[in-house]
Amino acid sequence: MTVETEGPDPARLLDAIADVVMAIDASVRVVYMNAAAELRGWRREDWIGCSALDMIHPDDLGLAMSSMETMAGKPVGSPIEVRVIHPTEGWHLFELLGSNHLLDDQLGVIVLSCRDLSERRRWEVAGGEVARFQAIVHHSSAVTMLVDVDGRIQSISAAITRLVGHDPERLAGTRFSSLAAPGHEPVLEEALRHRAGRMLTTVEVPVRSADAGAPRPFRFEVVDLCDDSIVAGYVVTGYDVTELHSARDALHELATHDALTGLPNRIALNQRIGDALVRGSAHDRVGLLFVDLDRFKPVNDLFGHDAGDELLVAVAARLTSMVRSTDMVARIGGDEFVVLTTGIASRQSIEELARRVELELSEAFTLRAGVATISASVGVALAETSSTVSSLLAEADQAMYHVKSGRRDGTAPKARRWTERRDLASSLVGAVERGEMVAYLQPVVRTTDLQLQGFESLVRWHHPNGCILPPVDFLDVAFEAGLGTGIDVAMADQACDLLAGLGDLAGQAWVSVNMSASDLADSGLVAMINGTLTRHGLQPDRLIVEVTEQATLERSGIREQTSPHVTLRELAHLGVQIALDDFGTGYSSLTHLRMLKVHTLKIDCSFVGGIVADSTDRSLVAAIVSLARGLGLHTVAEGVELPEQLRVLRELGCDSVQGFHICEPLAPAQLRDWVEAYRSGRIGVAGANGAAQSAVAPV
Ligand code: C2E
Ligand code: CA
Ligand code: CA
Repeated sequence: MTVETEGPDPARLLDAIADVVMAIDASVRVVYMNAAAELRGWRREDWIGCSALDMIHPDDLGLAMSSMETMAGKPVGSPIEVRVIHPTEGWHLFELLGSNHLLDDQLGVIVLSCRDLSERRRWEVAGGEVARFQAIVHHSSAVTMLVDVDGRIQSISAAITRLVGHDPERLAGTRFSSLAAPGHEPVLEEALRHRAGRMLTTVEVPVRSADAGAPRPFRFEVVDLCDDSIVAGYVVTGYDVTELHSARDALHELATHDALTGLPNRIALNQRIGDALVRGSAHDRVGLLFVDLDRFKPVNDLFGHDAGDELLVAVAARLTSMVRSTDMVARIGGDEFVVLTTGIASRQSIEELARRVELELSEAFTLRAGVATISASVGVALAETSSTVSSLLAEADQAMYHVKSGRRDGTAPKARRWTERRDLASSLVGAVERGEMVAYLQPVVRTTDLQLQGFESLVRWHHPNGCILPPVDFLDVAFEAGLGTGIDVAMADQACDLLAGLGDLAGQAWVSVNMSASDLADSGLVAMINGTLTRHGLQPDRLIVEVTEQATLERSGIREQTSPHVTLRELAHLGVQIALDDFGTGYSSLTHLRMLKVHTLKIDCSFVGGIVADSTDRSLVAAIVSLARGLGLHTVAEGVELPEQLRVLRELGCDSVQGFHICEPLAPAQLRDWVEAYRSGRIGVAGANGAAQSAVAPV
């Protein structure tokens, strides 16, 4: 039976339905859409003929497909909820219900009724949980807000009032970016434009406060839910990060500053040098001063660590007061400071600054524990276009090292250019064989009665041009060129030869030779020394090997074969005595003294120089002497130039002295005459005790 349909046109009825109605064919292509679809923005011409699956959210495709399959044998499927593309608003949640008419000759399609659930969901959320949800949001310390797709605040929680005083009601409808302090609005606009799609975008901006007080730093986390049919906007959470910032600043301060002096540390310095190098130019060059305190360690040991700390703080203050506010003074190690200065026009100007720093730091420091005098070695480096942070620092460090090593006898080794070093090295080749290297002997005498005890061998280069050069002029290059050990072995040979040549006149006098780090690293050294002694018929106890503490630590020999400690132990085993040179200028470590089986401490001339006028120097020498006594070691003071110095050293109980006041280093030809004259009393020493002036007694 057929029912006559007298009512409206069925096609128009279909268009009048509020729900979307679609028809798809067996291959899921859209063949029909009703007017409700057009009303929601889907244009029929865009979709007819296309796959309906393209309308479904990728994550929901599986659900849609399996529902299609189960529908195959059934006239009506079960409703499913899937996200369907919305032409302008992203994804909307739809309920789809299909009825299968594929086998119907006239229809041959699946008809889908599609209901937009988004509106209902929005209502459900608001209706059901809204009170609880609002209470949570209201009491949260974080600011929570909903920002619409156009960037306007729809609603904002009360935390905004507590933090910056704004009224949430008034903020509704204003732009999210207007929360930012003036000038920072674009950051917030950008955070929205970023369209991270459900991902988190985090930005930090200062937020203006309602009472026109200082802006407060905020971190905003923006979740882009514009494509979410329920939220359809951005969920933004804001935190006041003032405290976080101050904690972070404190941490940064801690990581980049030295706790004791408050100066920037190495990390901050490196950063700043890097920045300065980028900006520097030919007329505005970057310069570094590497400042190393020469006698910090002994002051620290003698007066205690509090005094050491006090001294470092005072040094920091002096350095800071000497430079411009745009310069940087950093502390990069125990007693190492670096001054970074910019706008340097010439090497001369930075050298001048270096000399001023040295002068300034040589002025006495008044500490609670007493007056301390120290000195500083300052090395400079001036940036070239190829300079890097580390090359510049290394250059300044190297320059400082040269200044420091040169200090020992009052003259710094000249900073030589490469060509100069090369020429020097080539004229050093064969110098020993040509007899140009000559051992000069400087007498060492007993402090109490000035009796001759021994000699120190000091090398002099009789240059073919007629000059007699001191070690500071060539020894560093000789070692660089691998010629140093050859020179030292030759000096030991000459020194032993000279001593043996004195015969009975020498009595039991010994000779000491200087050895450097490379020498000690040479595994053949002990055998060579042994050979030398045998050749000249000398007992091993007539020879002393002088090494600096530094040399015993370095392992930088060109032909590094053995450790300095092994060589020293073997020498001691042979019966040769070990003297620690320049004592007080290095680590002056007690454990070291024990380990090295040292026999003698040589007190550096820099202490002796100030022993009369400076109470610190005197205390230091007194401390070294009593330390040596306690350990059963012999003490020799170097660089005695004045009778007063001799008197003080005698008072302090120093065992032996050497220096220009007694005698300058003697050329081989002068040696015998001098010893004869001295022993016979024809040469006197001012400030000596009457008896000692004609010291003839055997030593
Ligand atoms: P050093 O071992 O500390 O030697 C003492 C230096 O003080 C010598 O300088 C000596 O000439 C100088 N001197 C002696 N009496 C006085 C004085 O009253 N006042 C002053 N101001 N100085 C005085 P020199 O000969 O120029 O040697 C410098 C350094 O070179 C030595 O310091 C030593 O470390 C090194 N040296 C010298 N000869 C040799 C050597 O044959 N081999 C090695 N490896 N190093 C050597
Ligand atoms: Ca020496
Ligand atoms: Ca010395």
